[in-house]
Amino acid sequence: MTYSIITKQRHPDDAWRLPDYEQTRATFTWDKARSWLSGLPGGGMNIGFEAVDRHIEAGHGDWEALRCVAADDSVTHISYAELAADASRFANVLVGLGAGPQERVFTLLGRRRELYTAVLGTLRARRVLCPLFSAFGPEPVRQRLALGDARVLVTTEALYRRKVEEIRHLLPGLAHVLLAGPVTDLPPGTLVLDHLMAQAPPVFAVPPTGPQDMALLHFTSGTTGTPKGAVHVHEAVVAHHATAAFALDLGPRDVYWCTADPGWVTGTSYGIIAPLTHGATLVVDEGEFDVHRWYRILDAQHVAVWYTAPTAIRMLMRATPRGSGSGLPGPYDLSALRFVASVGEPLNPEAVVWGQEVLGLPVHDNWWQTETGAIMIANYASSDIRPGSMGRPLPGVHAAILERGHDGRAAVTDGHVRPVTQPGVEGELALRPGWPSMFRGYLNDRARYDACFADGWYLTGDLAKRDEDGWFWFVGRADDVIKSAGHLIGPFEVESALMEHPAVAEAGVIGRPDPVAGAVVKAFVSLRPGYEPEAGLKRALLAFARKRLGPAVAPREIEFDQNLPRTRSGKVMRRLLRARELGLPEGDLSTLEGPV
Ligand code: ATP
Ligand code: MG
Repeated sequence: MTYSIITKQRHPDDAWRLPDYEQTRATFTWDKARSWLSGLPGGGMNIGFEAVDRHIEAGHGDWEALRCVAADDSVTHISYAELAADASRFANVLVGLGAGPQERVFTLLGRRRELYTAVLGTLRARRVLCPLFSAFGPEPVRQRLALGDARVLVTTEALYRRKVEEIRHLLPGLAHVLLAGPVTDLPPGTLVLDHLMAQAPPVFAVPPTGPQDMALLHFTSGTTGTPKGAVHVHEAVVAHHATAAFALDLGPRDVYWCTADPGWVTGTSYGIIAPLTHGATLVVDEGEFDVHRWYRILDAQHVAVWYTAPTAIRMLMRATPRGSGSGLPGPYDLSALRFVASVGEPLNPEAVVWGQEVLGLPVHDNWWQTETGAIMIANYASSDIRPGSMGRPLPGVHAAILERGHDGRAAVTDGHVRPVTQPGVEGELALRPGWPSMFRGYLNDRARYDACFADGWYLTGDLAKRDEDGWFWFVGRADDVIKSAGHLIGPFEVESALMEHPAVAEAGVIGRPDPVAGAVVKAFVSLRPGYEPEAGLKRALLAFARKRLGPAVAPREIEFDQNLPRTRSGKVMRRLLRARELGLPEGDLSTLEGPV
């Protein structure tokens, strides 16, 4: 099925919004973006300062920074001035504990006020922040605390008891554990954060901070293997700020909701840092995912800009399919919503069109990685959307498709790579280094970092193609691509075609080795409510996919699976589907979603 281009109307009354794509790209430099921020009074750059202090200096301390929506829907409002005081107290706590500059402060917290305090306090104190996903079990927590040389951990009493207490003796470098929120029975070797905060002064001058000082340590999602620790520096904030304007259409006082967990790079770069640098109001949802709860938040909080993930959109789609005539699943008013974007996995064209029909707005797909630190390719706010495309490189970003070698990755011959010049040809997506939020290393793994670069390009490990107008289309991860009877098949294309069938909620596609074809395409499919996993439906889906994709690309086999394995950041783990299918070792499961 071909999807038509969705054309955009520019907002007539918003002067701050950036001019069109070509014009901005032609005149943009990262130095210009640096000038959009304040910099430290004595020179240098500190993320904590850019996120909070500069609004206060501009007289906007009363603007609302956080809007915390508790599980019972009660709401707490926190101003920029209050956030600055909290962050300063926390910075003083760190100094008081003897945690030195550049030492690592980890958070293992759900979305709650103390998380924002710890993140911003750590950054303003020039210590290094590493956020962990609070649903990790003890072993993934231990691995990351050990690898990252954690000196301080901020968590809660319940999380400490469940995940840290038993492994604490394995972490001799972990000097301080601070418990956020109420504490009923203080475990040995921990401190009550509230008590420390109450004694700490609410003022803390940001120390001199170099733009290249390490600021953040982010672990990747573990979709393709063992998670890697990507190192980011303070000047990354220049990219966070600029890209949030370009790709999320974000501006001062926008009510903004990023649904990504702060344990992942999206939840920090765009869940905390970028929106605060813009003076936006962050919706902090302390509850769990629930279709009605999410629509209620969009409605009651008048969310204007919403950044979410394909998996979440697919879950909403499951509740209200397109064309069902039902629209939203209740009397929700989404008229405040102005912009919707998604990241993390390919966004099926069906989901873009669903947004247009059910939410009244198309979903803007964008692409980036933990390593890139900020959005690189996006459906630019003021550009038309080609459903299924991840958009075009943002101003300041130079992307290319490189010719592939035998292993599916970019071919490097005598140290040189060859950019593809023909439109529509698949190859490895590569970026020219030089943007401020590029990772500066994988922690303790220099060789792996070095292997990411060739001939002046950063090689992303993803395959993509570019059309004749410069739009980029995701094909698949180099590790996931299927070679079948001489064809190169991206799982995304097959999954998207299956999702056009009304019975299909989600699909994960792999190659199963085959003596004749090399590999045959196999799809694992979860069904929407009301459909039974029976043989007739399987036949119908096979025929449907053959018609859509042609026999060379369509799946040969379909298996129903209502619980597709996913990372905790919401991505289908094809490597696990493949390992299970072939009876191979399952590999690193530390980021697998599921009970802990
Ligand atoms: P690991 O590197 O540990 O295997 P990961 O690559 O999933 O995990 P992240 O850095 O969270 O870790 O995710 C980045 C990857 O997610 C990209 O390289 C790409 O494969 C995928 N991705 C992100 N956004 C998009 C998008 N809009 N379309 C397609 N794929 C995307
Ligand atoms: Mg990756």
